[in-house]
Amino acid sequence: MSSPVSSATNPADAAAVTALNEEERTRILAKAALFSPPSPLTADGRRDIVGLSREELTEFLLEIGEKPFRTKQLWHWIYHQGVTDFSLMSSIAKPLQQKLADKFIIARPEVSTVQTSQDATRKFLFRFRDGQEAETVYIPDRREDRGAVCISSQVGCTLSCTFCHTGTQKLVRNLGAAEIVGQFMAARDSYAEWPSPKGDTPRLLSTIVLMGMGEPLYNYENIAKAMRIIMDGEGIGLSRRRITLSTSGVVPLMDRCGDELGINLAVSLHAVRNDLRDEIVPLNRKYPIEEVLAACRRYPAASNARRITFEYIMLRGVNDSEADARELVRLIADIPAKVNLIPFNPWPGSEYRPSTREQQNRFAEIIMNAGFASPIRTPRGRDILAACGQLKTASERARNTLAP
Ligand code: SAH
Ligand code: SF4
Repeated sequence: MSSPVSSATNPADAAAVTALNEEERTRILAKAALFSPPSPLTADGRRDIVGLSREELTEFLLEIGEKPFRTKQLWHWIYHQGVTDFSLMSSIAKPLQQKLADKFIIARPEVSTVQTSQDATRKFLFRFRDGQEAETVYIPDRREDRGAVCISSQVGCTLSCTFCHTGTQKLVRNLGAAEIVGQFMAARDSYAEWPSPKGDTPRLLSTIVLMGMGEPLYNYENIAKAMRIIMDGEGIGLSRRRITLSTSGVVPLMDRCGDELGINLAVSLHAVRNDLRDEIVPLNRKYPIEEVLAACRRYPAASNARRITFEYIMLRGVNDSEADARELVRLIADIPAKVNLIPFNPWPGSEYRPSTREQQNRFAEIIMNAGFASPIRTPRGRDILAACGQLKTASERARNTLAP
């Protein structure tokens, strides 16, 4: 049976939760630092500008004797125009173009392979400067000229959800802000969508889902920095409403994500009882269902207009009964929410089967009848292993460098 759902409603409890979360946050962020990305300097000592905050860029420009107003100029060329070559920056005089090129580069991750699925989903395998690789997927909307870019946050994952291909790959390292922003920019290069469309002008790459490889909240600082760059109105300018972060439930960082970034939240729930969730989403042993749901209730950016998405993988005979559906409805009754039902996507060696079509429909109907949107996600890019949970690269952690 599931444990009772409780949320910290009285001030003493709320303070206790805050203190506990603070301690946990410090621990998580310290651990993340152990898996830091490599130096942003190239072999010849130049610095990658992509991934620097505006403040950092200004500092580096000051170091080479350039005024702060240059930041705005460079930002425009890099993130609005998508330029990777200083000599194309026509508003900057030639001598300064040369000086910048001597000190900096505007990099993209190297495209290792690109595959396009029968359904037009495109999967990129990107290689970073240290040779590590991660996957990014572009999922075009079938009816309109827009689509979602699914971005990876880590190479591998520390968690090992039993249904997830990435979870079979140990965490190699966190991706840096440059590598996170770089995935989006390189995907966009491939569709030649520069300059960045302004305001409501339709965009091909119109939304970001942080649902690729890895647990984004275990790499919070780099994700936050990258999202701030992507949301900056003078560059790529993607609204926070068009960005969704998916977490398996790292409770202590969920509220920070809402407070600081205000992006949409998706929570990988997948089970309605702690005994089952402990097994299939092992992080549940640390942050059980009731704590995850309490964090959802507190999530600052959630409202009826901006609902929390609960992701629910449909595993045949495991979590897909009608009783499970009714319990799900009970658990989320007081949360502005919608439920994405994801039929299990198989991968080589996986042990589950997707729920039958009838069972998916029965499950969806119960949730819908309770007033929640409950779309059954059509898998995209399955033929190229680009669907949810199928991503995995050959990158391995170097032996003996980090204790497991
Ligand atoms: N680590 C984060 C984000 C990446 S996973 C998280 O777990 O939320 C993105 C989504 O794909 C999650 O909801 C995850 O549970 C789901 N997923 C993983 N493996 C899957 C599979 N084999 N079939 C369908 N969905 C899967
Ligand atoms: Fe990691 Fe998410 Fe896969 Fe779980 S589902 S192993 S948290 S990437």
